[in-house]
Amino acid sequence: MSNIFVISGPSGVGKTTIYKKIIEDFRENISFSISATTREIRAGEKDGVDYHFLKEEEFEYLIAKGDFIEWEKVHNNYYGTLKSEIYRIWEDGKHCLLDIDVRGGLRIQKMFGEKAYLVFISPPSMEELEKRLRSRGTNDEESLKKRLSNASEEMEHKGFYNLVLKNETIDKAVQELREVIQKLI
Ligand code: 5GP
Repeated sequence: MSNIFVISGPSGVGKTTIYKKIIEDFRENISFSISATTREIRAGEKDGVDYHFLKEEEFEYLIAKGDFIEWEKVHNNYYGTLKSEIYRIWEDGKHCLLDIDVRGGLRIQKMFGEKAYLVFISPPSMEELEKRLRSRGTNDEESLKKRLSNASEEMEHKGFYNLVLKNETIDKAVQELREVIQKLI
């Protein structure tokens, strides 16, 4: 069995940019586990690439069938890691990389023990995170507040992660993560 790399961190911290660069660099060894979700597809996303976009009934049917390794309701939508994704990647002889929230990450850690390596991407400061969220277009105060309070909640769990990576600049964070992963695979 290969490793499972988990990447978590608050919304707006830059985790998608970071993991995409890592997958690109390690494409021979690491594959992204495409989660299922019931949230709306965003501009630029592709079904079956970024997520498997499902209807709520479809998601609930898969939960009942036991098809998920873990699933959560995040921001009122379902998100979950499919067993079939993990098996597909392992059958390919590769390590998995999961972009999931902290609750999901901690579940994976419990299930897979040392096979799981958890990376938490943290903002340089909460002020900086707020700035990044605003510059990304999260300007309505309510959704900004919600994201910031979710962020503080996620940050409280970062101590359980194997590595906390402060994202001061994307290049520095990617380089540090690259070096860590290189040693582990
Ligand atoms: P977004 O809607 O911005 O793509 O993701 C929202 C949150 O859901 C992020 O924190 C992301 O890491 C998390 N997430 C995405 N897929 C999964 C999954 O399969 N399981 C869990 N537990 N969280 C997920």
